[in-house]
Amino acid sequence: MKIIHSNIHAKHNPKYEIYDGKKEPYAEKKARIESIITALRNNNFNEIVKPKEFSASHITSLHHSAYFNFIEYRTRHLNDEEDFYPSYFIMDTYTPLTKYTFIAAKEAVDIALTGAELIKNGEKYIYSLCRPPGHHAEKKSSGGYCYFNNAAIAADYLSSFGKVAILDIDFHHGNGTQNFFYERSDVYYISIHADPSVRFPYISGFKNEMGTGKGKGYTKNYPLPLKTSDDEYKKTLLKALKNIDSYSPKFLLVSAGFDTYEKDPIGGFALTKGFYKEIGELISKLELPTLVIQEGGYHVNDLGYIVVNFLQGLNSNL
Ligand SMILES: [Zn+2]
Repeated sequence: MKIIHSNIHAKHNPKYEIYDGKKEPYAEKKARIESIITALRNNNFNEIVKPKEFSASHITSLHHSAYFNFIEYRTRHLNDEEDFYPSYFIMDTYTPLTKYTFIAAKEAVDIALTGAELIKNGEKYIYSLCRPPGHHAEKKSSGGYCYFNNAAIAADYLSSFGKVAILDIDFHHGNGTQNFFYERSDVYYISIHADPSVRFPYISGFKNEMGTGKGKGYTKNYPLPLKTSDDEYKKTLLKALKNIDSYSPKFLLVSAGFDTYEKDPIGGFALTKGFYKEIGELISKLELPTLVIQEGGYHVNDLGYIVVNFLQGLNSNL
């Protein structure tokens, strides 16, 4: 399995987020990716390739050009050490701009698109190791550590070649991804996440959101309570996979967040380390060309092990 990765992300290094009015250490840190890469190398995932550079038009065909230009221009004019919280084009207090945010976010999109192109060209499984993550990024705003929506941009690219299902397994609902495809039937968005009435992003991810217009019936949300166990999660995952199978997509994209882990400092489910292998195995039973896009997951010490488990499970069907 090829892994798409570059070191540019490490330049995007915010120092703090604002939680409940207080400055807290930034949870979406570069050490997350270092943990994953080390674990991959230690477990014979050695096909690590650099991303290609894609035109920014892939980003602006989904994100508003004023938003894209703002991120590009504003970051260029920041000092090296500055964390800047703009008062517009942002939905929370966790997603500051730094001097290197634009280049890192653009690189993350290229990592996703490089994976999408390989899948389109016939690879069975690809892991795009994106940072910053993307699924909370909306048409005109950043949020939840996300700036450009890597998964949505990759899915939009793949949709030119056949129907796409996006399975979002991050602990948080992917509000941005859902909104990009809410009126489309060629991309089916299906998400398993924490009940948004108690956890971020609060504004979306409820059961009654099912798409509208041509997209009616092509959004599916499975909000779950805090402390959800492996067994309860598995029951929901099986339902989600059945729905994906009935849709008969040409490609599957997994928005893979690992903040569902029981020890994750931000999440609140009770999934155990070993269970991620089974999640991968169950997804592989769809036998679809599958692009895995990295989203959240904040337990730095165990994150690499969890990702390896998941990818080994997915790979078991090859
Ligand atoms: Zn998350």
